[in-house]
Amino acid sequence: MIEKIVYHNKASSIQAVDQICHRCMGKDLLISENNHVYCQECSQNQSMSDFLFLNRYERIRNNKNHQLRMNFNLSQAQLKGQDFIDNCFNEKRQGFLHAVCGAGKTEMTLHTILKALNQGLSIAFVIPRLEIIKQLVKRFQVYLPKSHICALYQGMVLDESADLYVTTPHQLIKFYHEFDLMIIDEVDAYPFFKNQYLERLVKKSRKSDGVLIYISATFPQIYQEQVSNHAFDYCLIPERYHRKDLVIPEFKKYKYLFNEELFMQIASYQDSEILLLVYFPSIHLMTRYFYFLHKKGLACKMLSSQSKYKNSLIKDFSLGNFRILLTTTLLERGVTFKNCHVFVIEADHPIFDKDTLIQISGRVGRDAIYHQGLLIFYSQFVSIAMKETKRELMAYNKVKNHDM
Ligand SMILES: [Zn+2]
Repeated sequence: MIEKIVYHNKASSIQAVDQICHRCMGKDLLISENNHVYCQECSQNQSMSDFLFLNRYERIRNNKNHQLRMNFNLSQAQLKGQDFIDNCFNEKRQGFLHAVCGAGKTEMTLHTILKALNQGLSIAFVIPRLEIIKQLVKRFQVYLPKSHICALYQGMVLDESADLYVTTPHQLIKFYHEFDLMIIDEVDAYPFFKNQYLERLVKKSRKSDGVLIYISATFPQIYQEQVSNHAFDYCLIPERYHRKDLVIPEFKKYKYLFNEELFMQIASYQDSEILLLVYFPSIHLMTRYFYFLHKKGLACKMLSSQSKYKNSLIKDFSLGNFRILLTTTLLERGVTFKNCHVFVIEADHPIFDKDTLIQISGRVGRDAIYHQGLLIFYSQFVSIAMKETKRELMAYNKVKNHDM
């Protein structure tokens, strides 16, 4: 059902806030000076109180014959992921698909999405980041040419006739017991990870018998526990769609960051065919290093959460209009550059935990042609996270090569 906020009580509507907030299902309420009850958690977005009402109604949809158009075959590993999702869907089980970076996760979901579409079911593909939503909608439109794919993020008007919503988790607040199939990508990432508010929205927007599929390149402890409690079925896809090994990081130590050897190594990419991504633990350090490189006459650009025109900068970089991009964990995931090497500066910094380093490592070697590449962690010390990253990536390669 679609849920809309209304100011007048109708037969079909309910009071927005009573013992709980029915908009976000939260219990964190506050009584104001004029004796109205407000929801504290909704106050950051749209104020919710006991003088508002929620109108819930079924959306009208047309039956269609949906079609899947793919001009390539899935790899064996992708087929395994596809079967896993399909089994979860058929048996109405919740599933956790743990697929390494570059495994081709989206393609593994298409078969089941098509099946659900042709059964007239309601589907949401949830992913936290706006840039990725826009890209994904375009990709889904190519794969499912007869289907009406709608992006949903802050500022977008809800199109009630969508066949498939590609949405941020926050926009799920507009639905009540709507979805038969929900696929949540990057469930391990901000803002979804350990966010009870968003977890409640998933529960609220999903039908009680709706199927929930989590997808992630890492497998955090909290989900490991749920899998061992049989709350979720689990499937590991340890290989990339092109079947080549994951690139393993090399560790290099330095005493002083602004050293000539590292500078020369970065500078060698200026006129190369290869793109270089250099990750920093903070905007401050990245900016200092950016001016250091500029002073030495090196052409490079930087990108962080504070940058304007993020998308055009990413596009320019992927087109090779410049070769060296300094960045932060902002670009740890969701971006694919064809022929790209990665340096991580101060890789022993606490911000680079294992899951972040695994995501960053996943930027190298995603392309079938350029499946190798340099991946170097520069640091003064070797952190536990660095060691665990290396060990985990090597273990995936071992499992993959054993299965072959
Ligand atoms: Zn609320």
